[in-house]
Amino acid sequence: MHELSLIQSLLTIIEAQAEKEKFTRVNQVALSCGRLSAVEPSALAFAFKTLAQFGICADAELKLTILPMKIHCFTCNREFIDEDADPTSCPHCRGDQVVVTEGWQELQLLELDVD
Ligand SMILES: [Zn+2]
Repeated sequence: MHELSLIQSLLTIIEAQAEKEKFTRVNQVALSCGRLSAVEPSALAFAFKTLAQFGICADAELKLTILPMKIHCFTCNREFIDEDADPTSCPHCRGDQVVVTEGWQELQLLELDVD
């Protein structure tokens, strides 16, 4: 499972940071990833629960923000946000020359709430 290795490296980063900044408890871990990234939120939550239970993040809450997809339209040169993973036309001009420009962002650590 892809999510296990993502969480494993995330925990390594957090633990190194804890050592450096002398915090002993993590309350919340805020992450983000693009809508089209291969991250499955429920698998991620499961991986976190499994791997974090004996470490500094044992009581931490995991918060995942899914970043929206952005689409660019070549006909009217506008950007728009779409929920459809396979957009076929532009909501502004109905043009079909559209391309996905954002949404593949890898998992990223946004914020740590620590004590
Ligand atoms: Zn357009």
